Amino acid sequence: MDFRLTAAEDAFRADVRRWLDAALPQFFATPAQREPRTAAERIAASKAWQRTLFDGGWAGITWPRAHGGRGASIVEQLIFSEECAAAGAPDSINLAVALGLTGPTLMACGTAPQQAQFLPRILRGDDIWCQGFSEPNAGSDLAGLRTRGVVEGDTIAVTGQKIWTSFAQYADWCILVVRTDPNAGKHRGLTFLLVDMKSPGITIRPLVEMTGEAWFNEVFFDDVKVPRANVVGEIDKGWDVVITTLAHERGGAAPHARLRRELHGLLALAQTQPRNDATAVADPGVRQQLAQLAVEVQIARLTAYRNVTVIQRTGKPGPEGSILKLFWSELEQRLMDTACALLGPYATLAGDEARGVDHNQWTRELLWTRSATIYAGTSEVQRNIIAQRVLGLPRA
Ligand SMILES: Cc1cc2nc3c(=O)[nH]c(=O)nc-3n(C[C@H](O)[C@H](O)[C@H](O)COP(=O)(O)OP(=O)(O)OC[C@H]3O[C@@H](n4cnc5c(N)ncnc54)[C@H](O)[C@@H]3O)c2cc1C
Repeated sequence: MDFRLTAAEDAFRADVRRWLDAALPQFFATPAQREPRTAAERIAASKAWQRTLFDGGWAGITWPRAHGGRGASIVEQLIFSEECAAAGAPDSINLAVALGLTGPTLMACGTAPQQAQFLPRILRGDDIWCQGFSEPNAGSDLAGLRTRGVVEGDTIAVTGQKIWTSFAQYADWCILVVRTDPNAGKHRGLTFLLVDMKSPGITIRPLVEMTGEAWFNEVFFDDVKVPRANVVGEIDKGWDVVITTLAHERGGAAPHARLRRELHGLLALAQTQPRNDATAVADPGVRQQLAQLAVEVQIARLTAYRNVTVIQRTGKPGPEGSILKLFWSELEQRLMDTACALLGPYATLAGDEARGVDHNQWTRELLWTRSATIYAGTSEVQRNIIAQRVLGLPRA
């Protein structure tokens, strides 16, 4: 593969930089930048940023122009992500479901009225979407889901429970998978729905994580009526749509951009934290650890490039996506472990505790990144995929 960018891609990077310089406040990516603390703050910041992106013509970069996007290549998407992370632009985690999953799924499988109703609003950041896939007994084994959908003329009546539904309490809409034919095989008889979260019969119970925030939720459905017009694809053929959605969840990621920013923060931390009458960065053991992490962030970058190359050549993500997910999620945990080791007892300070370092963000991230090896496919599941599809090992 060729790691060099074309002249047009270099020009694109320069354009992105210029625009970000003008669009972001000066304090971004400096120690004065205070990361949003609560889920509500993050949602608000992310929504506002999405609107700025839209107004600047940068929303839905790889979406086709016909659907209001920029029609850019996946390499340009990668460049854009790298530049946003380097500039400290707000992340769009609340819009990941909307822009990253719902939009591409609707473009691939939705009806023209569904596309017209939802796609422009997603690009503008008008609606927050949540993902109602996981259930108490269906996570890695998603096809084991049991939430029922009963087809009643022009509506589907939904009853059941979802869990770990991120930011459901802030969501306007949900992509929901239900079982409409309980007698069909596990992967058959499923239906993919677009559900208005204000519908009568929905109860949301936030779950508090170890960060102290309630990011994800239990969501209960009690005879919730969903119009048939909100079925994506065909009734009982929802698994095909799920596969489309999951391919987008695992493809084209650029986590190295965020990791690089975190690494730079860690290097700055090592230059200020005391150790043995000097700063930590003078300690040979610490230097060794930092060098190792720097090497691993480069490995994550090159693996992301390999992943993008495969998508560019074949049009779909390959098992490289699993290698990348496994590697970056565990690397991010090691990075946060190192930061908190440098902080020593200060790592026990959290929240708004004023005596902490860097607004106590390292401790929060240490706790939050434990989830990275679970969501979007656990490390064990990624290892299974690598074993079977990369190494060709037999199924157990
Ligand atoms: C922060 C966060 C946000 C999330 N947000 C959402 C969301 O918005 N919407 C949504 O639908 N879901 C969401 N999830 C749920 C996530 O998709 C599931 O947690 C994940 O799929 C794992 O499923 P599970 O929790 O049921 O664990 P299980 O699948 O029950 O797994 C339990 C353990 O068994 C292991 N295991 C399972 N199967 C195998 C196997 N075949 N081989 C080897 N080991 C195996 C797993 O690796 C894990 O260690 C979120 C999760 C987290 C942590």
